[in-house]
Amino acid sequence: MMTDRTKVFRKLHIAAERAYGHSLQTGSGGNLSARDVVAGQMIVKSSGGSFADCTDEGDGFVITDFLGSPIPGSTGKPTREVVLHAMLYQLSDTIGGVMHTHSPFAIAYAFHHDILPMTTWHVRLKFGCDIPVLDIPSPMVRPEDTPLVRSLFDANPNLPAFLLRGHGIVAVGKDVLEAEHNAELVEETAKIAVLKELLEK
Ligand SMILES: [Zn+2]
Repeated sequence: MMTDRTKVFRKLHIAAERAYGHSLQTGSGGNLSARDVVAGQMIVKSSGGSFADCTDEGDGFVITDFLGSPIPGSTGKPTREVVLHAMLYQLSDTIGGVMHTHSPFAIAYAFHHDILPMTTWHVRLKFGCDIPVLDIPSPMVRPEDTPLVRSLFDANPNLPAFLLRGHGIVAVGKDVLEAEHNAELVEETAKIAVLKELLEK
């Protein structure tokens, strides 16, 4: 029988595999995490690893507290973007998973726009909101950026994702599988938005 911890590892593995398979994230970039509700801990991708190397057994992940510090006995170093993951779980109890990817169409679109609009009926139904773009002058979200991120969820507690200009997608969900699906939909929406603008020129 699967324990709660092994179920979380399984979902993380599936989400990482999907994101890598759909080229939302290549190489060793990006990161993902899940809230382990039973243990009251966060399981986050380790630093330098690839989505392609994650396993059901928890390879590629580090177990931390909600401040991002590894718990005693957990080996490896968490991603340098652990601050972002910890911040999101502390901002909202309903967030159970986070997917952060350096997806090309989302990044390209966000260079020149402050929101990613709902380009299709599908995204209107699924998200029902535009996706905001944040300017964070750093390769990673920092503790001092918390008010900026909090303001997004204060404005829309059901926000499924936001974009970091020049950086990538941050998608959230009730679990990491939903977060990964949201990241896929953001990238699809951005791809359509980029193509639409090109064809309209
Ligand atoms: Zn990143």
